[in-house]
Amino acid sequence: MTLVQTTTTTHEQRMRIPVPLVEPRTAIPLQYLLIPGPTPVPPAVLAELARPVINHRGPEFAAILRRVTARLQYIFQTTSPVLTFPASGTGGQECAIVNLFSPGEHVVAITIGHFGNRFAHIAERFGLQVSRIAFPWGEAADPAIVETRLHELAPYRGVLLTHNETSTGVTNDIKILAALIRQHNPDALIVVDAVSSLGCIPLEMDAWDIDVAFSASQKGLMCPPGLMMLAAGPRAWDASTQASLPRFYLDWKSARRALERGQHPVTPPVSLFYALDLALEMMLAKGLEAVFVRHQHLGEYVRRHVRAIGLRLLADPAHASNTVTAVRVPEGIDAKVLLNTLRERDQVVLAGGQEHLAGKMLRIGHMGCCEVRDLFTALNCLQVGLQEFGFHADTHRIGGITQC
Ligand code: PLP
Repeated sequence: MTLVQTTTTTHEQRMRIPVPLVEPRTAIPLQYLLIPGPTPVPPAVLAELARPVINHRGPEFAAILRRVTARLQYIFQTTSPVLTFPASGTGGQECAIVNLFSPGEHVVAITIGHFGNRFAHIAERFGLQVSRIAFPWGEAADPAIVETRLHELAPYRGVLLTHNETSTGVTNDIKILAALIRQHNPDALIVVDAVSSLGCIPLEMDAWDIDVAFSASQKGLMCPPGLMMLAAGPRAWDASTQASLPRFYLDWKSARRALERGQHPVTPPVSLFYALDLALEMMLAKGLEAVFVRHQHLGEYVRRHVRAIGLRLLADPAHASNTVTAVRVPEGIDAKVLLNTLRERDQVVLAGGQEHLAGKMLRIGHMGCCEVRDLFTALNCLQVGLQEFGFHADTHRIGGITQC
């Protein structure tokens, strides 16, 4: 690695901490970015980032915030205000917990993978008493089991759910789950992590009586990472006035007060708002229904192609996600080595497995502005890569590696 020493002045030479030797900046390669977030961003949206920065307390930013908020309300399908924060999806999980609950309160976490576990873990870190209803990785939450367990676990204040589990490529049936939670406990706070579903998979917050849902800019919304958006319904706002967990940066009340003035409580990343503003406009110009159908086709396309290669999916086919596909890597092949080869040689960037599935799985993201032609290229490179690692499906076995 070549390190760069910048020229130094006499003053700089006298300083205790020397000017750092750093790696030279290099061009960012053009890649087939097919991880489950961040996802590719349309060039027009990227170009928005190059616009001049504006006063975040001025009328221009207020107009952007009004547009973004109204369009997010439509995408969440809610009449409640949508708050945007400079944060990632994990920020959304934390934001929901600290504004809704008090230490020691009992919540139920329905978890079907890594991100459901993270949500439960954050709740525990903040001193909540968390009961998990956990399902094997690859399965969706079974409503019958959830119902039985909710009876056993009552009383509880809230239920934490993941709409689309990004670690396994499984989509939960949130409409059914929310209805049965509500039936069992009308006052329960139903909190939905929609980080890898919003804008790609239907979610109807008000119609499904969901109290809180949140997402992030870098997944289905065709935007770079950095913004988190959260919608809270009336039951959640009431709960937030009682919730005693400490919060400041992610406080709903101050965010809502500022929103009413067309502002944000802190300095927001105005350039990201430019990008989100255009990205949402582009999505709604296509029509949300059309965007959902497009993702359904993308999901089906990837699953069909993966099976045709001779690989097996992790997800239960009845609940396979239309935004991310998790694929079992054949035994004898290290997924990490395979993924490195694809990245270095073919510029195809896929994600690996998480927790106990690290090295055994790969995950293909197909959210946002992802195109079939990119998936076609990536899947063909994957097939060739697998053959070179000795894998041939079923009838054509070489190197002793068979169908996984
Ligand atoms: N929840 C879900 C469902 C996710 O997919 C992710 C990230 O992929 C997160 C939460 C955490 O988001 P972030 O990595 O943006 O903090």
